[in-house]
Amino acid sequence: MPPSFGLCDACAFQRVVGNTRGSRFSLCGRAREDDRFPKYPRMPVVRCDGFEPRRDDDAT
Ligand code: SF4
Repeated sequence: MPPSFGLCDACAFQRVVGNTRGSRFSLCGRAREDDRFPKYPRMPVVRCDGFEPRRDDDAT
């Protein structure tokens, strides 16, 4: 079962990356342009002012 990153799992700005040891990390795509958002938010995120729902056709 994949790890739950909370609200980020349903957000259009989430990017999930992995390392060579098989760990997975959730990155916030908003962090590049808005310093209110950390690149690696503390998980699980339960509330976020930047949340936008992911659409089915969004790239992951
Ligand atoms: S904007 Fe908020 S909910 Fe969306 S990926 Fe970033 S931290 Fe997660």
